[in-house]
Amino acid sequence: MKILVTGGAGFIGSHLVDRLIQEGHEVTVVDNLSTGKRRNLNRRARFYKLDIQSWRLERVFRNERPALVMHLAAQMDVRRSVEDPVFDARVNILGTLNVLEQSVRHGVRKIVFSSSGGAIYGEQYLFPAPETHPTQPLSPYGISKLSGEHYLAYYQRISGIRYVSLRYANVYGPRQDPEGEAGVVAIFIQKMLSSEQPIINGNGRQTRDFVYVDDVVEANLAAMAQEVQGTYNVGTGVETSINDLFRMLVELTKASCKEVHGPAKKGEQARSVIDSGRIRQELGWEPRVELPEGLRRTVDYFREKLG
Ligand code: NAD
Repeated sequence: MKILVTGGAGFIGSHLVDRLIQEGHEVTVVDNLSTGKRRNLNRRARFYKLDIQSWRLERVFRNERPALVMHLAAQMDVRRSVEDPVFDARVNILGTLNVLEQSVRHGVRKIVFSSSGGAIYGEQYLFPAPETHPTQPLSPYGISKLSGEHYLAYYQRISGIRYVSLRYANVYGPRQDPEGEAGVVAIFIQKMLSSEQPIINGNGRQTRDFVYVDDVVEANLAAMAQEVQGTYNVGTGVETSINDLFRMLVELTKASCKEVHGPAKKGEQARSVIDSGRIRQELGWEPRVELPEGLRRTVDYFREKLG
């Protein structure tokens, strides 16, 4: 099948592209390389270095005629969204609208959208949160991801295009950027392997639901089937505190650093964990890589990368 992947040079997108090509699909990538890396790009994918907001996107759709669009390109830094909500909205709302408009105009059958469980539920009432949990995003990033979901539902109603929104938990694994603000696993590992001191924000008792990137890729594959439509959480349902994560990584990296705490980050959720019962029941997806194994693979990757 002809598939267009936006954000295919990024962390999750590049793993997805590799897997789609392995499955025999014909893949086109659109990415402006703002956080994505050329070295992540699969050589067998056709690549357009392009911003999703650009009018040139029309030409890509005209030339490539994809049947399916996997939309991952995004501004995904929560803190940047707080500092510059307009930039966040340009990329995540207007850019997404451009992708959806072109998809509808050029006869795409289906869109699979990367949304965020952590960011759109806000402070949770239920643990783990199901898809029916109220959405009260705490950041412009959460708002922009949620509006992407609303636009998808709108285009589905007016044009019949099918869609799936996948609400990921905290994704981790090889190729995650350790330089950014997001991605605590990559940040801790990089510092530990470079004998630097990682800082735990606040008391470290805040919890997250860590899901391995390969499992997220499999959820995308399950979502591709034509009959599937709707919104699905993609997480493990397991809560891990940042302190516990830190200790597991110290053991794996054999780092000699101490547990040092810094000030808590404003607006950070205390607990975030999502219920993936729906995708498990309806699509038979479940996370296969447990945290100790996923962390081991990620540490191995960074060890090799850092030489
Ligand atoms: P990433 O930053 O590695 O990937 C995003 C990709 O989009 C990058 O390659 C970047 O260059 C590209 N991009 C950004 N702005 C663009 C633009 N205007 N035009 C074209 N390309 C652009 O991040 P990721 O972790 O791989 O995230 C992928 C998707 O998953 C995002 O939509 C993100 O919101 C979502 N998500 C990620 C997580 C997580 O824990 N990593 C959790 C929930 C949702």
